[in-house]
Amino acid sequence: MSETIAAVGGENFIAGQWTPSQGGRTYERHNPWRPAEVVGEFPSSDAQDVAAAIDAAEAAWPAWSGLPAAKRGAFLARAADAIEARLEDIAHDMTREMGKPLRESRLEAGRAAAIFRFFSGEGWRPLGEVFEQSATGGAVYTRRRPLGVVGLITPWNFPAAIPAWKTGPALAYGNTVVLKLAQDAPLTGLHLARALEEAELPHGVFNVVIGRGGDVGEPLVADERVRAISFTGSVPVGQGVRELGTGAGKRVQLELGGHNPMIVADDAKLDPAVQAAYAGAFWSAGQKCTATRRIYAQDGIYEDFRARFLQRMSEGKVGDPADPETEVGPLVNESQFETVLAGIARGREEGGTLLAGGDRADPDAYLIAPALFEDVADDAFLSCEEVFGPVTSLYRFRTLEEAIERANSVRFGLSASVFTTDLEIADRCIRELQAGILHVNSQTAGADVHVPFGGSKSSGYGPHEQGRAAIEFYTEEITVYQDV
Ligand code: NAD
Repeated sequence: MSETIAAVGGENFIAGQWTPSQGGRTYERHNPWRPAEVVGEFPSSDAQDVAAAIDAAEAAWPAWSGLPAAKRGAFLARAADAIEARLEDIAHDMTREMGKPLRESRLEAGRAAAIFRFFSGEGWRPLGEVFEQSATGGAVYTRRRPLGVVGLITPWNFPAAIPAWKTGPALAYGNTVVLKLAQDAPLTGLHLARALEEAELPHGVFNVVIGRGGDVGEPLVADERVRAISFTGSVPVGQGVRELGTGAGKRVQLELGGHNPMIVADDAKLDPAVQAAYAGAFWSAGQKCTATRRIYAQDGIYEDFRARFLQRMSEGKVGDPADPETEVGPLVNESQFETVLAGIARGREEGGTLLAGGDRADPDAYLIAPALFEDVADDAFLSCEEVFGPVTSLYRFRTLEEAIERANSVRFGLSASVFTTDLEIADRCIRELQAGILHVNSQTAGADVHVPFGGSKSSGYGPHEQGRAAIEFYTEEITVYQDV
């Protein structure tokens, strides 16, 4: 455990204090690379802790929302500096607690700082538009106001970036926050709390509660004092959050799963396409909502692409995530490991041919060798449902119409990619692929901090996150008629 977090004991962060859960219950988090190693002990919080965090956030809101936005932004800028100062600690803790290869953990920790820095600048942006009243010529203008207390619920797979990209705009636009971190990766999120504490954020503006979804997430969604819930996670849990949250009259934003296609046209540059397919499918052990689950390769290059992709798979380093050379590390926990192995078994049972990988790759770790399937039917489980691991399938197509139709045939619509050198093909994909994020000649995964992020169809609900789009969710727009 890093020195800083060890010093505060891996506790909840409520009203500016590091506190154990009121019920006194804790759980241990184990390293998915070496499951016998305990990474830390964390609170198993419940509704009392959530209520205390909401009390603190509610009490802090009037003063926080009354600060000039630029002053609020200054706290985020200082927190960004604090994150950068502890970047190596954050990256190593992320790798130890959820198995992300160190090279990606470092990038993600840096991205969390960049997100805070971006939102620190939002304090200088316009908050509305000025018009003339039609009858009197007096002023009429729109103005965006903060909502109040917002609840943020995050998954384990981007334990720095996702909490940062919800917290940054929530605070910048004048809300106070109760953040529920995922049980499988609390340590990384606590570094964000520590960075905001070092930035001397006023007590109660940002609070963190750790524990199980039902014990912490549900009371947060149900509490009438919480004005809005931003949730990232799986489809079934997200749907439950939407029902409970909207039923209680609050705003709800969901970022959910994906089943992201990549189309490789006959005219594509194959080397970059192969690199992008490998990274998109297997980095972070395929545990990204934007991971490449289906690769459609056109007839003319199919065999060549397949051979080069298998070659690339044989070269990728799979193993200890703390080794900076490792590209594919373990799955987050035993249950995910078993679920992904079951998905691979089902892929074979349903007629898919496993061309490479798919087995346990270490006797101790929850490590699965990257798996490539071929001959998977379009309506088979693997072609339709998110198997959250290093598993992808290769399909052959003849015409672009066919590829687009098959790519769009799932209920998800998060990201999609096309590799081509033909502008007409690229343009058609941009217009017709059903996804919130489209890549031309780059992998399906990846999200820049200053542009919107979010999916369509079953992949999302409500306004998109990140960039200037975040203002939509974290503020309400009012219209002011002002006469002298
Ligand atoms: P999950 O749905 O199991 O959990 C997400 C969060 O919700 C966790 O903090 C969990 O404790 C909490 N939760 C669980 N039950 C709850 C309840 N009843 N009420 C309130 N909160 C509850 O998801 P996960 O396994 O942590 O993450 C993996 C999933 O997240 C994948 O499906 C992945 O595609 C998705 N994801 C989506 C995006 C995106 O931006 N679209 C990004 C990352 C991950």
